[in-house]
Amino acid sequence: MTQQDEYKLKWQCCLKFIKNNLKDDHYKTWFEPLSFYTYNSQTCELVINAPSSYFSEHIRAHFSALTYVALRKEYGNTVKLYFRQLTDSENNLTSEVESAPVSPAKNVPQHPANQAPTTLQSHAPSPEFDSHLIDEYSFENFIEGTSNVLPRSVGMSIATNPKQMTFNPLFIFGHSGVGKTHLVNAIGHAIKELQPEKRVLYLSAHLFQVQYIDSCIKKTVNDFIRFYQQIDVLIIDDVQEFASHTSTQDTFFHIFNHLKANGKHIILTCDRPPTELQGMHDRLITRFKWGLLAELQQPDETLRRGILVNKVHRNGLHIPNDVIEYITQNVTESVRELEGVLNSLMAHSIVYNCDVDINMARRVVGHAVNVENKPITIDQILEHACEKSNVSKEDIFSSTRKASVVQARQIAMYLAQKHTNLSTSKIGALIGQRNHTTVIHSVRSITDRITTDKKLNDLVSEIEASLKR
Ligand code: ADP
Ligand code: MG
Repeated sequence: MTQQDEYKLKWQCCLKFIKNNLKDDHYKTWFEPLSFYTYNSQTCELVINAPSSYFSEHIRAHFSALTYVALRKEYGNTVKLYFRQLTDSENNLTSEVESAPVSPAKNVPQHPANQAPTTLQSHAPSPEFDSHLIDEYSFENFIEGTSNVLPRSVGMSIATNPKQMTFNPLFIFGHSGVGKTHLVNAIGHAIKELQPEKRVLYLSAHLFQVQYIDSCIKKTVNDFIRFYQQIDVLIIDDVQEFASHTSTQDTFFHIFNHLKANGKHIILTCDRPPTELQGMHDRLITRFKWGLLAELQQPDETLRRGILVNKVHRNGLHIPNDVIEYITQNVTESVRELEGVLNSLMAHSIVYNCDVDINMARRVVGHAVNVENKPITIDQILEHACEKSNVSKEDIFSSTRKASVVQARQIAMYLAQKHTNLSTSKIGALIGQRNHTTVIHSVRSITDRITTDKKLNDLVSEIEASLKR
């Protein structure tokens, strides 16, 4: 085994670790297509092949922390990750290693409390104060829609009117993936821009909790509390995480009261309204309701389309309109889901080197969201029955008795009877103006034949499977 083979094995171990810590579809989409290229033990530089810069950018943005945890375990703390990708310059396939390594620091949460005693002793604002706001989440790329109008405009008003205290705290709630984290970061950026002297701090309730426990162990709880009491705008994400953590809640309660009494702003997000929080002190729930409760609703159709079009445009992607429309109609739960589908489509098109089209979209959406319960329409049945039987819709609607067409027509009627609530007369009317006895005959014929004719059975199953995707 050569030295490089050993390094390659280490990469396999990293992948295993990443796989164990990541959702299956994320692993498949983003890590499976990668492969080991080389490792230089002198410089500690690891180079990994990626199908395109889309992968390296995505991994940089979303998985760099996890990736570095894995890499450091195998290659040591000084490892630096570079991506190498095939570039298609005027049809000459060449490879290119990116000049900058993937930075591990970006997504690894730093410990805001660590900066407390040194940089924040007086009330003088410190230019180095790190807000921990997420750079990419600004108002500029936050698309407006009816589902987010209230929290968005209140956020803007806090940023533009520092004295405005009616909405304090601002409590933004909504399901996962609707844009809470993005919105509160956008508010934080806007405040910093318009009121640069303000100390704005963003962090997750989870990190707050971890720091608090850490300060208990180190016996620095007073420093911890003092640090938070000096913040001008405190943004805490996902406060539902405080549930059942009594002493964290107590500490937060004191910080909250101090900030509120001193005219400082508190912005909170939560995955549910305060009244539905379990395991939370009543006195804290009461405080949450003091200011403004604003719901971020699930994105409506116009917003979903707007977000997709914007993302496609910003990334210079080529996605046909029917695909955008298909995703808009079928991926309805959250913005995160929309982005996930778009990313998977891009990854598929790069790995398989083909354009994004409606069939690929159907497959990807089928894996990502549960479309099984969506009603199947007769148009879809006709489309899939024709495609898999190699006949055209015009053939089906015509009076031709060609065997392949007759069979496709019968399959369409059989599937329409099975998967829609339409009556036999309606099915007949929609499939080439046949009368209902023809439909009954066709359904019977296919039902009988699929028990003995394996080829037909496979064909029907295949059409059914594609309908459910
Ligand atoms: P939550 O915190 O509610 O779970 P996030 O803020 O993490 O949701 O949003 C999920 C993803 O959707 C993020 O990538 C975010 O940028 C994007 N997103 C959500 N709402 C919008 C919007 N109105 N415009 C643009 N992107 C959005
Ligand atoms: Mg969030």
